[in-house]
Amino acid sequence: MPIHAPTDLLSLDSILPDEPLLMMGAGPVPIPARVAAANGIVINHLGDTMAQIIEQVKQMSRYVFQTETGHILGVAGPGSAAMEMAITNLVVPNSKVLSICNGFFSRRLAEMAERVEGDVERLIVPEGESASPALVEEHIIKHQPQVLTIVQGETSSTVCNYALAEIAAIAKKHHCLVIVDAVCTLSTMPFEMDNWGIDAVITGGQKGLSCIPGVSLIGFSKQAWDHIQSRQDQLKHWCLDAKLADQFWYKKSYHYTAPVSGILAIHEALRLVCNETLETRCDRHFRSSQALQAGIEAMGLQLHVKPESRLNSVVGIKVPQGLEAGDLLRTLSSRYRVEISGAFGANIVRIGQMGEQCRAHNLFRTLHAFGASCNLLGQKLDLPAGMAALEGILDKHAVVD
Ligand SMILES: *Cc1c(COP(=O)(O)O)cnc(C)c1O
Repeated sequence: MPIHAPTDLLSLDSILPDEPLLMMGAGPVPIPARVAAANGIVINHLGDTMAQIIEQVKQMSRYVFQTETGHILGVAGPGSAAMEMAITNLVVPNSKVLSICNGFFSRRLAEMAERVEGDVERLIVPEGESASPALVEEHIIKHQPQVLTIVQGETSSTVCNYALAEIAAIAKKHHCLVIVDAVCTLSTMPFEMDNWGIDAVITGGQKGLSCIPGVSLIGFSKQAWDHIQSRQDQLKHWCLDAKLADQFWYKKSYHYTAPVSGILAIHEALRLVCNETLETRCDRHFRSSQALQAGIEAMGLQLHVKPESRLNSVVGIKVPQGLEAGDLLRTLSSRYRVEISGAFGANIVRIGQMGEQCRAHNLFRTLHAFGASCNLLGQKLDLPAGMAALEGILDKHAVVD
């Protein structure tokens, strides 16, 4: 053998910390024990057991997406693979696309549409603002797109497009298919696929659903599915071809070997959402994020986005003068074993409020670690005032269970 096996390898135990860090950043997020256990199981990808699990995953997804007739498919891949699946199946080469850009992920949708030869027009929304329906309509009238892409929540800039339903209605009026990235928002805030007239919804595992990264879900409306069925050209992506994926998800036959463990994990994550109900879950997320935001402000720090455009699923905090974001993240992680996220671009750090992150015990630990780390690095924040504000808003019963 010309190439020898490496001999200086460390075991995972000696690489990982004794106790896992508390993942309070912009994803991945902590996963419930049932999800972790399901992720450790491998079963036959085409057997009856799998078929039963797939039926339930579709049924539960229809609830979580709020759709009666949506065509649900799973994707072995990150949220980005589901984004690419929506784009590649709905954007016909040379057709017009309008991409509403609020930041990093919404720009990624535009880039993906260009790669499949869509004729893409970008509506760049100013930093810190939500997309305006009137401006979107102006652009639709001017460019006559066949497809519109938009994020519900933009994780990178911590902005939410609160007028999503209104924007989708405008797009429908102009016969335009609407693709929505709901990766960080699904099951953390209201989303209604059917009522809002959304044609493709994308979600990843590791954010709102509190599942593992690398397995994603997508839902197509009837109109989107008819469009896919009627396409005569051959898609450039074989793995992401929805007509091929349909073989596995609706006809019990082989497309590629499904990520069975990941699908079992998603099954459990969805089941936890169904048991909790969307109403209670969204309420838990809202209250938890409001409490966190109040705590941060009461300490004397500023949030990045004004309340009317602010995303609750990921909270952006301005890095105070005299502090380096990198030092803050390192102190939080090494001293308090809490991980939060930096950012691309704006001088902010981000704390996630998705799934298991919205639990009182995780919130108290995170806010304390955050304020104490700032103070260790020379700030003079009022940590007790922050903790009191958090406590004051938190409805413990809603957030703990
Ligand atoms: C994280 C995220 C994605 C991408 O998900 P990956 O699993 O990293 O590919 C897309 N959109 C939004 C809004 C996200 O937050």
